[in-house]
Amino acid sequence: MSPLPILLELQAVHDNLATIQRDLTQFPPDMAQIDAELKSLAKRIEGAEKSLGDATNSQAILAKDLKLAEKLEDMARTAMKGATQKVQFTAAIRELDDRERQKASVLRPLKETETKQANLTKQLEEMKARQADLQTQFEALNEIFLAEHENQVEARDRLQSRKTELEKQLENSDLVRFNRLLQARKGQALASVEGGNCMGCRTKLRHPLLTELREKSMVICESCQRILYTS
Ligand SMILES: [Zn+2]
Repeated sequence: MSPLPILLELQAVHDNLATIQRDLTQFPPDMAQIDAELKSLAKRIEGAEKSLGDATNSQAILAKDLKLAEKLEDMARTAMKGATQKVQFTAAIRELDDRERQKASVLRPLKETETKQANLTKQLEEMKARQADLQTQFEALNEIFLAEHENQVEARDRLQSRKTELEKQLENSDLVRFNRLLQARKGQALASVEGGNCMGCRTKLRHPLLTELREKSMVICESCQRILYTS
């Protein structure tokens, strides 16, 4: 049996769902504002988390460098203390100077990184608190909004379960093709044929395709790949 009747109904279900989804995301101004702030906040939190991750990696590397520098400094100090001759002592002092400079050159970026880490952690805490606060506000308003749109919510639930039923009746390969087309073709996986043209992309269909279509087999537009049907 041709899957076309099921596909046609599934397309209609998708169309209706899209319309309802539009209604259900057309928030009143106060909700829209909170929604927009939540979205931008989520982006900023993501960015800050990434920066914090980078800073934490740098900190670990620098902390390791510092440990090594401290060890070398200790060794230089011990060598200086153990120097018995003037020549040895001068060389040991120079060595210690170098080691101290080396340590300082690690210490500075390490401190900077740690300050950055602390700032980012604080910023993230603040942003997440704000996010939780906005989320609570949004959910309270959304409850009222959804109650006001009760009919649409019910229709959406009904359509969702119908969609699941229809999907179960299809061969997996047909469903995969259909869903891929929905994605690629702005929500329209099917196209009607009128006057020998695909109404999805307005391309004239070749004769063999039209014959196949009359014989009720599943035909794909060669130009836009939509599944064709005659009305
Ligand atoms: Zn087409």
